[in-house]
Amino acid sequence: MALMRSWVESANSPETDFPLNNLPYGVFEAGGHARMGVAIGDRILDVGAVGHGLDPALFAEPAWNAVMAAGPEVWAALRARLTELLSDPAHRAAVELHLVAQDSARMLMPFRVSEYTDFYASRHHAQNVGTMFRGPENALPPNWLSIPIGYNGRASSVVVSGTPVTRPWGQLKGPEDTLPRFGSCARFDLELELGAIVGQPSEGMVSVAEADRMIFGYVLLNDWSARDIQAWEYLPLGPFQAKATATSISPWIVTAAALEPFRTPTPKRERPLLPYLREPGPMLYDIDLEVALAPEGGTETVIACTNYREMYYSAAQQLCHHTTSGCPMRVGDLLGSGTISGAAPDSRGSLLELSWGGKTPVVLASGEERRFLEDGDTLTLRGVARGEDYRIGFGACSGQVRPAVDLPDWAAG
Ligand code: MN
Repeated sequence: MALMRSWVESANSPETDFPLNNLPYGVFEAGGHARMGVAIGDRILDVGAVGHGLDPALFAEPAWNAVMAAGPEVWAALRARLTELLSDPAHRAAVELHLVAQDSARMLMPFRVSEYTDFYASRHHAQNVGTMFRGPENALPPNWLSIPIGYNGRASSVVVSGTPVTRPWGQLKGPEDTLPRFGSCARFDLELELGAIVGQPSEGMVSVAEADRMIFGYVLLNDWSARDIQAWEYLPLGPFQAKATATSISPWIVTAAALEPFRTPTPKRERPLLPYLREPGPMLYDIDLEVALAPEGGTETVIACTNYREMYYSAAQQLCHHTTSGCPMRVGDLLGSGTISGAAPDSRGSLLELSWGGKTPVVLASGEERRFLEDGDTLTLRGVARGEDYRIGFGACSGQVRPAVDLPDWAAG
């Protein structure tokens, strides 16, 4: 597929994340109030103000939940109408009035997160982490090749890119400690993930094909993780406080419609899947992903590059499996893919893996070394699907690490 041209000139640049082919959905604040917007080149279309066939009822509340709830026919009609309005010069005079410079806007949460589930579905990540936590012979749990494993996270912890993240305190017990202690996390980490946004509700089981149609779009997702807290708490019910500090998402929802040309199949199965989990077609996407780290006041270094096609399970398979119990899914549910790691050492989506449990430091452009995150570090995720002469970009998902808060006396004990 080729670049679709817009009368917004900046949208036709091969470098922009936001050509007419993309049209991602966000919520922005400019001039004091929050509004729904569509990114086009270096502008944002104030979509609730345009009229011209765009139903204002969909844009009453600054969150994309109402559009999602309206269903796939409305999703397609909205995208078609936006494409018309931003490509046909006849609409330019009326629509141009409602463009806002991205530079002058502050991005807010694009939707209300109903519930949040995070998975563990990249083969290389599971192998790497399992090797470090349990040794190479027990690296992959026996269920891993059959079940997209996940845990129920906290919707309250999901924040938009740009929100600072405070280093957590927690209960931990390192290899040298004889007893557990309460301390600030010394192994604070990132996880490079893609978040799938459920746009339609379900009651009862849904098939992989139905699940695929329920997904409205995707965001970049950083599942901030406290490795020392995690190592002590995770058996037998999985991560708890180690993953509850914050989960950052990028501010633009890149729709499944925009990603359609980039579909790609999951890798070869190492064990046949049960019939309900088999995919009727390609359900991953070819999306290049990277992680960059900038020390406070310093320049950033790209520390990892990988691709979403590394996933062993697609979001559609994860969503299907999520409903097997009869668990109802809601509009605005967020599903984290799990950390996305490739085979190469520089394609690992967490510092835990990049530094191999802190053994081999990552060297930054400045010469500084990182085993885990330090206070003041800014972490930025980026993602892009590459067409022939255009790109579908996600924008950035950033967050700066703030020092742990002072410990209250009752906790210092
Ligand atoms: Mn995760």
